[in-house]
Amino acid sequence: MGDSYQAFHRRSIEDREAFWAEQARRIDWHKPFGPVLDYRRPPFAKWFVGGETNLCHNALDRHLAERGEQPALIYLSTETGQQGSYTYRQLHAEVNRCAAVMQGLGVKKGDRVLVYMPMIAEAVFAILACARLGAIHSVVFGGFASHSLAARIDDARPKLMVTSDAGMRGGKVIPYKHLVDEAIRLSATPPEKVLICNRGLDPGMSWVAGRDLDYAPLREAHLNAQVPVAWLESSEPSYILYTSGTTGKPKGVQRDTGGHAVALAASMEYIFCCDPGDTMFCTSDIGWAVGHSYIIYGPLLRGMTTVMYEGLPIQPDPGIWWRIVEQHRPKVMFSSPTAVRVLKKQDPAYLKQYDVGSLRYLFLAGEPLDEPTARWISQELGVEVIDNYWQTETGWPILAATPGIEKLPRKFGSPSFPVYGYDMRLLHEQTGEPVGANERGVVTIVPPLPPGCMTTVWGDDERFVQTYFSGFRQQVYSTFDWATRDADGYYFILGRTDDVINVAGHRLGTREIEEAISTHPAVAEAAVVGTRDPVKGQAVTAFVVLKDATQTQTEAGAAAMEKAVMATVDEQLGAIARPAQVHFITLLPKTRSGKVLRRSLQALAERRDPGDLTTLDDPTALEQVRAAVAPPRKK
Ligand code: ATP
Ligand code: MG
Repeated sequence: MGDSYQAFHRRSIEDREAFWAEQARRIDWHKPFGPVLDYRRPPFAKWFVGGETNLCHNALDRHLAERGEQPALIYLSTETGQQGSYTYRQLHAEVNRCAAVMQGLGVKKGDRVLVYMPMIAEAVFAILACARLGAIHSVVFGGFASHSLAARIDDARPKLMVTSDAGMRGGKVIPYKHLVDEAIRLSATPPEKVLICNRGLDPGMSWVAGRDLDYAPLREAHLNAQVPVAWLESSEPSYILYTSGTTGKPKGVQRDTGGHAVALAASMEYIFCCDPGDTMFCTSDIGWAVGHSYIIYGPLLRGMTTVMYEGLPIQPDPGIWWRIVEQHRPKVMFSSPTAVRVLKKQDPAYLKQYDVGSLRYLFLAGEPLDEPTARWISQELGVEVIDNYWQTETGWPILAATPGIEKLPRKFGSPSFPVYGYDMRLLHEQTGEPVGANERGVVTIVPPLPPGCMTTVWGDDERFVQTYFSGFRQQVYSTFDWATRDADGYYFILGRTDDVINVAGHRLGTREIEEAISTHPAVAEAAVVGTRDPVKGQAVTAFVVLKDATQTQTEAGAAAMEKAVMATVDEQLGAIARPAQVHFITLLPKTRSGKVLRRSLQALAERRDPGDLTTLDDPTALEQVRAAVAPPRKK
């Protein structure tokens, strides 16, 4: 860590309350807060006690005087061909209309509203309308299957659901409303009303009389609506978001109001280096934490312009993102390593066709960022790539470079240092003692968690404590991720604690092996799991996607590639990490958020049931895995 960042970080921990009281000036408070922090009931932290504020006011109303005519939201869809933009004044008007419609349907402060929407502007209206009314939004990623949606309905018990007739993905219509109908049928606590933004994509959509309402005419009836904001006490919930569910039953992450606003506003400057008036293009989805924080709230709280894109990164062609950059001139982009790897497999000529000169930073998060991918994209774009590590639970980065405070050198493969506000410890899994330089430990945070982080599990304080704070003797928040920290203080994430492979007593991180495999020039991506082995306990099994799949079409070709993969691992990590088996496939099974479903891979490799697959993106990936691990047919 550099001196000035180190001092900044130290102050955020040692002089925590003064530090955050200063940051709190970034937002409007209807009523000033008293104590900065109430930590009388660890690990529950309440920030900005007694202060009253509102997220919608801070995201929109506050900017009207100075930037009413500045674009707030640019939306474009390569699925429907629609595009346009809303100034702060126009977005404010739309949100007021939507809030009036919801109010007319009986939505009040504290009610839950479940938003199941595609990436269209109306989704943003609905989310900010909830914030305006003090209603708690719970956005569920569009396209989640009915039974996962039903489980979320039963947990959140929404008064209202907001949806669309359909979403679109790669030209295929996904009938959202139909999925909602199914989910409501399966649900024990269905909402009273369903508000539908009808895009006319699903002519077969059916309406349930008395329950389903068409948004367009209701909006027309409220064109001049002015809905006063509901002032919330800082700790009152703003939203619930269920975790992606890569590792099990999703938890309802509950976020507060004041801490959330302050943390995001500060991150826009210190981490993302953005000023009011700048433009940000975040390629995530509003259904994920990244989308909540960096498509919607973060940029708007900072008075910026946000770009919202419905469509695939490779359609109509792999140049689409760069065309968007050329046209809308964002200073900062935020995406995921998976998406960049998808582009890396395409012809780089697409990138060269566009002027991406407006970009200064590309932030990538969500999974480990391997060095070849980071190098490739940073060279192609000529911008700085900033790997940042966080979780749905925290809502903003835990580990990241903070160029807005001090520009420090970065190391490939590392999301750099603990972000200000986070008091991190790398702890030995068994002893709970801090580990030394380059020793493997579990990434933990000493509570209180900083503003913006989850305040509890929705409706289940006990589960919050049990899940996150009970793994060690001392009360610390566990991220359930492994990492090392080098002598200079840089962190390297090794994978999840339940992804570790134990080969003959040696503990190997899946990520280390994946990275080693990825250094082979023919490899596009790899996923590694541990599979049962009668002798060694576990054996390393690798699933590898090659840049050119034809290389393994012949048996000889496959054998040669397998040898090459094994030799690469031997060379970098030693024979102990060498995969016992290498399977070549053309697609890794991933969640919709781009995370490899290692649990399912492992189960299939052990010929067990792959478990809950509701978040699986493309089912054909699973078929490939099944075929790859099937015992060879006798000739
Ligand atoms: P669930 O908690 O429901 O199983 P999930 O953990 O996949 O789902 P998220 O909160 O979206 O849901 O993902 C956070 C996790 O993603 C982190 O705990 C870490 O494992 C991984 N991750 C995020 N950013 C990075 C990064 N920059 N480098 C390495 N891993 C990352
Ligand atoms: Mg998680």
